[in-house]
Formats: sequence, C-alpha cells, structure tokens
Amino acid sequence: MFHLYILGAFFASVLGFFLHYALRDKERKDNCHRHHRADGLVTSSSEIGQCRQDDGFGTDIIIVGAGVAGSALAHTLGKDGRRVHVIERDLTEPDRIVGELLQPGGYLKLIELGLEDCVEEIDAQRVLGYALFKDGKNTRLSYPLEKFHSDVAGRSFHNGRFIQRMREKAASLSNVRMEQGTVTSLLEENGTIKGVQYKTKAGQELKAYAPLTIVCDGCFSNLRRSLCNPKVDVPSCFVGLVLENCQLPFANHGHVILADPSPILCYPISSTEVRCLVDVPGQKLPSIANGEMANYLKTRVAPQVSFAF
Ligand SMILES: Cc1cc2nc3c(=O)[nH]c(=O)nc-3n(C[C@H](O)[C@H](O)[C@H](O)COP(=O)(O)OP(=O)(O)OC[C@H]3O[C@@H](n4cnc5c(N)ncnc54)[C@H](O)[C@@H]3O)c2cc1C
Repeated sequence: MFHLYILGAFFASVLGFFLHYALRDKERKDNCHRHHRADGLVTSSSEIGQCRQDDGFGTDIIIVGAGVAGSALAHTLGKDGRRVHVIERDLTEPDRIVGELLQPGGYLKLIELGLEDCVEEIDAQRVLGYALFKDGKNTRLSYPLEKFHSDVAGRSFHNGRFIQRMREKAASLSNVRMEQGTVTSLLEENGTIKGVQYKTKAGQELKAYAPLTIVCDGCFSNLRRSLCNPKVDVPSCFVGLVLENCQLPFANHGHVILADPSPILCYPISSTEVRCLVDVPGQKLPSIANGEMANYLKTRVAPQVSFAF
C-alpha cells in the first residue's frame, strides 16, 4: 500500500512538472501575440509560438536605427507600454547636415508626441518663414502661424543635438532598451521576419527576436534591399558649410537663393552659426583635395550670395 502512495506521489509530481511548463509556454506564446501591429513602417510580424525571448528582456518590438524616426517611434511605443529594443549603429552624437530645419508642422507633431522639450537646451533657433532671393531682388514669406500658440514656429538646430535629446527621451523609459549595434540582416522564416542579426559594440554577433521588427535605418539603408528594390535617382549633391558669427539679412528666417545653376539655402543652426547648403548638380562633386571645390564655391557661388549678406 505504502508503495502505491509513493508511486502516486511520483506520478503526481511528474504531471505537475509538465503542467507547469505547458502553462508557462502557453503564457509566453500569448505574450508574443498580445499586441497589434503598429501603423506604418511595418516590415512584418511573427506567428504565434515563434517568439523567442532570448535576452531576458521580453521584447515586443525591435526597432533598427535611432534617428528621428526610430527614436520618436521608440518613445511613442514605449509610452504605450510596449517593450522596445532599439538597435542603433552609433549612439554618439551624429554629425550630419540632414534634418536641421524643423517646419512648424513638425513642431506640432513633437507636441502631439510629448517630445517638444527635445528642441530645448540645444540652442535651437525659432524659424518664422523664408526669405527668397533672385536676380538681386528679395521677398519674405512668413508661415501662417496666427492661429497658433506663440511657441509654435519652425526650429533650426544641430541635427545631432536634437537626435541625442530624442534618444535620451526614449531611453528614459524603463521598457525601452537602447543598444549600440549594427544590424547585419533580417531573420526571415517562410517569408516572415522573426527578428534581426546584429553585431554589438564589442563585436559579438547576436540574434534578437520579436513579434514585430520595424526598420528605420534611413536613406542609406542596407536592409531595404532585402525588403524591396529601391531605385534612387541622384541628380545633385548638397555641399554644406557652417558660417560662424555672421548675420543673415532676415533674422529667424530660412534664406533661399535661386542661383545659377541651382539653389543655395542658408539658415541659423545656433545663435552663432549659419548653415549654408549649396546644391551642386551632377553625381560627381568637384574635388576637395585638389582645390576644385574651393574654386567652385569662390567663383560660382560666392558672387551670387554676396548681395544677400
Ligand atoms: C542634405 C539633407 C538635408 C535635409 N534637411 C532636412 C531639413 O532641413 N528638415 C527636415 O525635416 N528634413 C531634412 N532632411 C531629411 C531628413 O534628414 C530625413 O527625413 C530624416 O533624417 C530621416 O530620418 P530617419 O530616422 O528615417 O533616418 P536617419 O536620420 O538617417 O537615421 C537612421 C539611423 O539608423 C541608423 N542605422 C542605419 N543602418 C543601421 C543598421 N544596419 N543597424 C543599426 N542602425 C542603423 C543610423 O546610424 C541612423 O542613426 C534632409 C536630408 C538631407 C539628405
């Protein structure tokens, strides 16, 4: 009789053990499938049971790239309670000439997302409209901001300072994990993206899995070609200069000079610096090394902007 009790207890504990793991597995699968897809920028989502929480973090969404899109998305999804894993190639302050002038509509979007403080403490300049220059004449176009709060205007700044503020804001949420690493490929099974393969800052090759992967890796994307066949036409290049301690004719305005052969754009990026963007037609830029670029700027560009300063 005693033997029967022992045997019964043994089978009960074995059954309990399997039941416990079966229930934990079901809960994990349910978690994997709990969230709906986000609108836009979606690459794909995995099926029930395919989610692997191999990092102890339990990721709902992987975001590749922490530029303006990735950071804003991470913050928004994080605020929504999602567990977000952002993988960004370089978390140091970017030094780029892109995304330096935020239009008023962009500022309104920042307010909507609760990110408007990202343009504070970075010496951002208010932008109220544009001044246009052509053949020695000029005119000013103001943004129609009368109906808005006095704070609403465009903003211009160093792109890197703004991006760092956005990244900090996203990373301040406990359910957003921001990691430095380069995504080398998307992990695909039967036509569905299951996650990413990436190289950490320390050079370690890792895989991360989530029900949803969102790629925000910008215009030089290496991953886009595995999702579609991009055909990009490059008719010209922007050459960027920073002019220090000089005043533009119209304070708090972008300046567009309709020059020959193509436009020149100037706007403040801090209280002491003006960005000057010169559009140079063609795909091949004049050489900086042999002085062709300096010569082009001095002889073709400078005479056309001197009237503006
Ligand atoms: C010359 C120029 C001027 C511009 N000026 C303006 C402007 O004044 N105002 C404006 O609103 N827009 C401007 N734009 C457009 C604006 O810059 C882009 O729309 C914006 O930067 C796009 O943001 P994004 O987050 O999609 O990409 P990005 O800002 O390019 O960010 C992509 C991020 O992904 C990371 N990344 C890339 N590949 C990987 C990978 N494999 N693994 C991990 N991370 C990766 C990159 O390091 C980067 O941080 C300008 C663009 C150019 C080219």
